[in-house]
Amino acid sequence: METLRLDLHNHSRVSRDSKLSIDDMIAQAKARQLDGFALTDHDSIAGNAEALQKAEREDVLLIPGCEVSSREGHVLALFVTRPIKTGPLPQVLADIRDQDGIAVISHPLRKGGGVPRRVLEDHLDMIDGIEVYNPDNTPFGNRAGWRIARRHGKFQTGGSDTHFIQNMGHGVTVVRSQSRSLESVRAALAAGQTSAWGKHAPPCSCARCRVYYLLEPIGRSQRFQALPASEYVLRQANRMFGRLFFSAGRAMRW
Ligand SMILES: [Zn+2]
Ligand SMILES: [Zn+2]
Repeated sequence: METLRLDLHNHSRVSRDSKLSIDDMIAQAKARQLDGFALTDHDSIAGNAEALQKAEREDVLLIPGCEVSSREGHVLALFVTRPIKTGPLPQVLADIRDQDGIAVISHPLRKGGGVPRRVLEDHLDMIDGIEVYNPDNTPFGNRAGWRIARRHGKFQTGGSDTHFIQNMGHGVTVVRSQSRSLESVRAALAAGQTSAWGKHAPPCSCARCRVYYLLEPIGRSQRFQALPASEYVLRQANRMFGRLFFSAGRAMRW
């Protein structure tokens, strides 16, 4: 059994709002001690083939995917191999399932791009997972996602929603997988073998970042309850002593 740290939400320059190359992303994934990451460009899988090749050479696990802008909000389509047309949410979810993909609702309930609660709850049977940590969410937004995932038994993911390289790894999904192969990671996700973690990037000078950074423990303390006791203790200890005893890179693991 392997415990893998994956960042399941990242945008390369195939997305219009990112300038990141796959090479830089792979290098950053290694620097942040990730086992792998998902490539989730907006409404495009154009970067997946190149990314899969390069990641394999570098021994980084690359989960092919995209972030579909459905009419009702964004959905991460993981393990898909064909383009997915944007449109009404049910159609997008059906398309993901047709391809044996995994559907994860990204930043649920967020105003602008997030699937609203009522719509989400109407389509639970087609939804596999919920993103419960996204550093661009307010701590309250993350907590709301976590509560929905818990209530409806959906697996939880963390993703950095990286558009800038320094953010990569600030949202992490910990997956218990039989092996490092894509198939077994897919099976582990489908079986709900995940926990989610994240840490807001150190605040830049903008007021929003500073406020989120200060308020983040509110969402975090709730999420801890979803973890096995051993992991809870480890993370709390790391949180308390991390800044004192570990290097920044080591502390980032949790
Ligand atoms: Zn999005
Ligand atoms: Zn995104």
